[in-house]
Amino acid sequence: PPDVGQLGKSSWTLLHSIAATYPEEPTTKQQRDMKSFLSLFAGFYPCWYCGEDFTRFLEKNEPATSSQDQLGKWLCEAHNDVNVKLGKPKFDCQFWKQRWKDGWDE
Ligand code: FAD
Repeated sequence: PPDVGQLGKSSWTLLHSIAATYPEEPTTKQQRDMKSFLSLFAGFYPCWYCGEDFTRFLEKNEPATSSQDQLGKWLCEAHNDVNVKLGKPKFDCQFWKQRWKDGWDE
């Protein structure tokens, strides 16, 4: 089975990086495609119980796809939901773009 921690770190890097390159003004199709992508991603996520929780989060919290900043903040909230579940500190979502677009060193 995959290493859930390693898989998670890589997956969040991919997801936040996708948000950071998502259009500022997405078309209707891009918004629809992003919602499909996120539910398909959850459905095929290699840690099945993680994917199930993410699917439940998606059902309760419709992805905010109307702009890059909206999507980035939505994804940050989704990541915080997992942080809380795992007892990790919450990330301050006003800094999502600095972390994942402009870049900073860890
Ligand atoms: P990660 O949480 O992987 O974060 C990586 C980096 O992202 C951090 O160093 C920080 O710079 C930045 N960051 C942290 N929080 C945020 C935020 N809110 N917004 C933006 N950037 C942030 N693990 C489980 O054990 N059980 C689960 O049920 C589970 N579900 C998951 C569901 C999904 C969809 C994903 C992608 C991962 C899931 N994981 C789960 C993995 C878990 O979230 C972590 O990835 C893993 O524990 C490794 O944590 P980490 O400390 O390396 O940092």
